[in-house]
Amino acid sequence: MSTAKTTIVVACALAGALALAGCAQTPAEPAKEQAGTQNREIMFQVSLLQSLTEGDFEGSVTVGELKKHGDTGIGTFDGLDGELVMVDGEVWQAAGDGKVNNMADDKTIPFGNVTFLDADETLDVSGIASFKDLTAALDKRVEALGPNNFYAVRIDGTFAKMNVRSEYKQEKPYPTIVDALAADQTFFDLENVEGSMVGVYCPPYMTSLNSAGWHFHFVTDDRKQGGHVLDCQVDKATASIDLTKEFDLALPGSEKFESTDFTVDRSADVKKAETNE
Ligand SMILES: [Zn+2]
Repeated sequence: MSTAKTTIVVACALAGALALAGCAQTPAEPAKEQAGTQNREIMFQVSLLQSLTEGDFEGSVTVGELKKHGDTGIGTFDGLDGELVMVDGEVWQAAGDGKVNNMADDKTIPFGNVTFLDADETLDVSGIASFKDLTAALDKRVEALGPNNFYAVRIDGTFAKMNVRSEYKQEKPYPTIVDALAADQTFFDLENVEGSMVGVYCPPYMTSLNSAGWHFHFVTDDRKQGGHVLDCQVDKATASIDLTKEFDLALPGSEKFESTDFTVDRSADVKKAETNE
């Protein structure tokens, strides 16, 4: 009896000593990695929207890597090659020619936002007449839940109208985003389509890294049409809203990025690129 007891005490002391030694030798891992489960409440961002406006269209993160950071999101591809929509962990390209393509893991992206969508609440958005009214309805929920957080939203349903745009791939030397869109933007006015709108909300303090407020992309259920949302009319749809409190930024480290002067205010270019106004 007493021998067994002693053995247990020694084993515990040894385990404690090993744990201490381990801590001393290697830097502490973040809690989320120690736990062995992924932290799903992080808004992951590749580069800055402000860098994209300057023509830094070179992809820096692969689609495969993007999938490790989320299952839902938006962005664009190397060379500003169309609009990225991530739904259910699949990455789709709504291309400039109007086609939608499933993108392989080795493709790269110069800008995007993704997270894992775990809805904190749902909102019936049926019958909303415009994109402006839709974002106003979502803003009400954001005001209630806290406007200084990030949000990912997915709106599934039928849309009487969906006005989207995309753009053709750019060649080097890359133009600014405003010039690229002026030359190579394409518009698609869809009617009575079933699909998913994927949106990201950035809080007001994000104006120098992204744009404040909502940014939506769309893809049809049959994955044949889609793009960056300019306007829409909702027939019957439900919004799944995911409040996200953490932010992870992956800077590209490209020559173009390193040499860009980010003290310049690019808000007018960002607005033009986002709204086409
Ligand atoms: Zn977009």
